Amino acid sequence: KPVPVITVDGPSGSGKGTICRLLAENLNWRLLDSGALYRLTALAASHHGVALEDETALVTLAAHLDVQFVSRDGDVQVILEGEDVTKVIRKENVGNDASVVASIGSVRAALLERQRAFAEAPGLIADGRDMGTVVFPEAGLKIYLDASVEERAQRRYNQLINKGLSASVESILVDLQARDARDMNRLVAPLKPAEDAIILDSTQMTIEAVLDAVLEEARHRG
Ligand code: C5P
Repeated sequence: KPVPVITVDGPSGSGKGTICRLLAENLNWRLLDSGALYRLTALAASHHGVALEDETALVTLAAHLDVQFVSRDGDVQVILEGEDVTKVIRKENVGNDASVVASIGSVRAALLERQRAFAEAPGLIADGRDMGTVVFPEAGLKIYLDASVEERAQRRYNQLINKGLSASVESILVDLQARDARDMNRLVAPLKPAEDAIILDSTQMTIEAVLDAVLEEARHRG
């Protein structure tokens, strides 16, 4: 019997990360944060002095990523080559490098089986851009979580301010638009809803409302 999978795709800042964490907690399923794998490939490249144009070296790095995801009281610690990089991989520059690395088809292919291996009983929540279209095309429930770019910029701004960092909504907005354009217009596995995805626009929804909507759909599908 195949392992049940719920895919959640959508643009940066749509709330996917939060929703996926809550879904995994709620259902007691595994969680795949596929964006972290692209971020880790980008970070490994910078650690090893590999240029983002060096496709051959990037593929080798992606295929041999030495990474561990360690669960620790509700949080996941990310270890790359023995080093705790949980915080570092969340930096804006790593995210931007990740989206450059992610536009290379051979790098995506090198990460494909690693992502599929996350599907284990009792089930998997898969967070990304191409979870429903490429990585888990047979998933029983596919969600595309969207929100207006203004709302996504505002949310990210609030997150940064809450962490005590300085930020400007305008520059976050410009960055998000550039990232969206790169993710949606690339040739391989562009960000788009799967044909059988349920599209949820979270612009005017609370996190709880989005979570309830997805759990309700999951219940319907058994
Ligand atoms: O979701 P997150 O911001 O961590 O993803 C970082 C980048 O990795 C994205 O901007 C996107 O370019 C890439 N990515 C991808 N496919 C995925 C997940 C992330 O191309 N499934």
